[in-house]
Amino acid sequence: MCGSPHIHYVAGMITGEKYRCEDCGYEGSLILEMDVEEYKKWIKRRGDESGIER
Ligand SMILES: [Zn+2]
Repeated sequence: MCGSPHIHYVAGMITGEKYRCEDCGYEGSLILEMDVEEYKKWIKRRGDESGIER
């Protein structure tokens, strides 16, 4: 995945949560493909951006 904040939660599945990226079309569970620190930074960045948009 590209690290874009434009990622939407799609569904909770047996295998985990599923997300889709609007920028690159990525679909999957982010947590499996990011390390924890990277994930936390991404959540923070995403929160900051949505705060600005509002
Ligand atoms: Zn992406």
